[in-house]
Amino acid sequence: MNGAPLQRGVDRDKLKAMLRQKRRMRYFLSFCASCGLCAESCFYYRKHGDPRSTPAYKAVNTLGVMFSRKRTLSRDDLEGMKVLLWGKCVLCRRCYCPFGIDISGMISWARSICRAQGIYEDYRKSSRGL
Ligand code: SF4
Ligand code: SF4
Repeated sequence: MNGAPLQRGVDRDKLKAMLRQKRRMRYFLSFCASCGLCAESCFYYRKHGDPRSTPAYKAVNTLGVMFSRKRTLSRDDLEGMKVLLWGKCVLCRRCYCPFGIDISGMISWARSICRAQGIYEDYRKSSRGL
């Protein structure tokens, strides 16, 4: 068959089911005071100084968005999160939040959700990273 390849959508039932498994993460994310204290514990932020590399930014704009837009999130939205989930985080788990928010656990779960949708970083093709 000719033409552009079919764009697969989002398996919304699977997305919602996975978010339900860790619904307490949404609760903890709501505690984030955007104080920025976790930034200094992330070597990626310290190296690049990009505000989009702070642990809180990465969690809020991936898992946080999955929670708040689970009914409308598109496959392109999830694809767009790859740069934060894989390109700007190595899951070293060093990020520290004085309020006890498990940022790296959230990033890890957001990766799992993406992988369950068939979305992941292909390191063979990607030049992203450190
Ligand atoms: S995750 Fe914690 S340390 Fe980081 S901005 Fe939010 S409240 Fe502050
Ligand atoms: S787990 Fe990710 S966000 Fe946390 S310190 Fe490591 S690179 Fe930064």
